[in-house]
Amino acid sequence: MHADEALRWDLGDLYRADDDPALERDLRDARGRAEKLAAAHRGMVSALNPAKLRDLLVEYEALIAVAWRPSLYASLRFSAATDDASAQALVARTREEGARVSTVVKFLDVELKTAPQTVFDGWLASAELEPYRHYLRAARRSAPHTLSEPEEKVATLKSLTGAAAWSQLYDETVSSIRVGIEIDGKPREITVDEARALRSSPDRALRERASRAIHEAHASRSHVLNFVFNTIFQDHGVEIGLRRFDSPIAPTLLDDELSAEVVESLMATTERNYGLAQEYYRLKARALGLPDFASHDLLAPLPGGDRKVSFSDGKKLVLDSFASFSPTFSEIAERHFARRWIDVMPRPGKRGGAFCAAAIPSLHPYVLTNYNDRLDDVSTVAHELGHAIHFSLASKQSLLNYGPTTPMAETASVFGEIVLATRLLAAERDPTVRRALIAMRIEDVIATVFRQVMYTRWEQQAHARRAEGVATADEYGALWRAQLERLYGPSVRLGELDRWGWIGIPHFIHSRFYCYSYAFGQLLVLALYRRYAEEGDRFVPRYLDLLAGGGSGTPEELLARVGVDVHAPAFWQQGFATLSSLIDEFRATL
Ligand SMILES: [Zn+2]
Repeated sequence: MHADEALRWDLGDLYRADDDPALERDLRDARGRAEKLAAAHRGMVSALNPAKLRDLLVEYEALIAVAWRPSLYASLRFSAATDDASAQALVARTREEGARVSTVVKFLDVELKTAPQTVFDGWLASAELEPYRHYLRAARRSAPHTLSEPEEKVATLKSLTGAAAWSQLYDETVSSIRVGIEIDGKPREITVDEARALRSSPDRALRERASRAIHEAHASRSHVLNFVFNTIFQDHGVEIGLRRFDSPIAPTLLDDELSAEVVESLMATTERNYGLAQEYYRLKARALGLPDFASHDLLAPLPGGDRKVSFSDGKKLVLDSFASFSPTFSEIAERHFARRWIDVMPRPGKRGGAFCAAAIPSLHPYVLTNYNDRLDDVSTVAHELGHAIHFSLASKQSLLNYGPTTPMAETASVFGEIVLATRLLAAERDPTVRRALIAMRIEDVIATVFRQVMYTRWEQQAHARRAEGVATADEYGALWRAQLERLYGPSVRLGELDRWGWIGIPHFIHSRFYCYSYAFGQLLVLALYRRYAEEGDRFVPRYLDLLAGGGSGTPEELLARVGVDVHAPAFWQQGFATLSSLIDEFRATL
């Protein structure tokens, strides 16, 4: 086999080709199973005794496993060749078929949600339904916040011209922005993303021009963008009132199956540790020889971080580091390479970025990356294979208990990155490269923990401010600046324009209160890694056990099994102990 081909997916475990008759057969089979299920049970779910409901759920899982295969195949084919007409057509066709099947079986979700409380309590208490307890609770969690059917219908229809239209206006406005900036002595017009990338340039004056140009471009659109923020925030305010939630973050936490206390504990502990970020930037200023470290220096690169790593070296690094943690880790990763369940290299038509796709426990995951010989790319391979390991270990769960909930989704991926980074650092002898590696890890934690908690705090305050009436861009800006000052203290000199940072962050519009979950995932893993560092090999089987739990419980339940209490600030503090040691190592290199 040609070397290049060995780094491409083999989708043969799904279907041999786009016109494999098995694909058509599965589409037909899924439709048939869905119709049979509906004919037998529609309108009668609440009359089922626990044993009968369990049988129904088992059949339902079997149906989903069949129905998802064609869509999974189509989406993988399309990801690897977005310009291929046959793949495009297959995506559209499987999407339509999938939508048809889910419409037919929609009754199950609705009837679980609306079954009388006494019936539901009976199900939950029964031994037969013990394996589905988490699924049943999750299916029902939004019930107290669901409106009547006609109300829901109106809300859905009106949302198209409401929140959905406003967020589209936001996207169109932001993506139309061109930033005027001077590069190499010539005036240029670039996109916001291109300008953002310039903030990590080694050229300080260019970093400053890029930061200024981004803020000015946003400020010049602030009338429209601020109007969108006010409208979207008020829309959410109306929604939580109608659906009787007690705070703007509550719907997100309900989906994520976390209590408000846990998230507040995580956020407050993070805020108490802001001094660590401030200490790091004081040290970074020294490393860069900058007496007045400014906000446009936050992303300045340290020399030595741009080393090239070939794919074969990168693969070996990942496998060796995984093996040093657990043979199970490296065996699963190795299998993905050997059986061609990973598509490694960039090529024309292939989609960008990286992901791990796993939908059905009876089938192994597939991983896609775009390897480009950077250290970051090695880290991405470790990250995505971490996901693959998580899913592989969870594959003994049944389908409805398979996928981890959002806050737990990055448990193995980020762990994989840390295992790799630790190994890289231990093996590195060049002091300049060592310092750059340590800085990369620290800045990764600052970006995913501190910054995201800061964003979430601002978001809470901004929603609270909006509840009192329309807010000006200056008012939102003042709240933003206060959060920046809290995070960076005197270690970073802020500019007048830094108050515009909030307006270009799409999460506030599209994925309300999502940012805390980055912090949750990263800090959880740092704390777990700390335990590993302290307990050594004794920790490994407990950790594998946690991953094997998949989505069979809430984050609190799953973590309690490995002795973690997410309510306790002391647990979250362990993550900062890891960060603190890294900062000590960084200091020692100066
Ligand atoms: Zn991930």
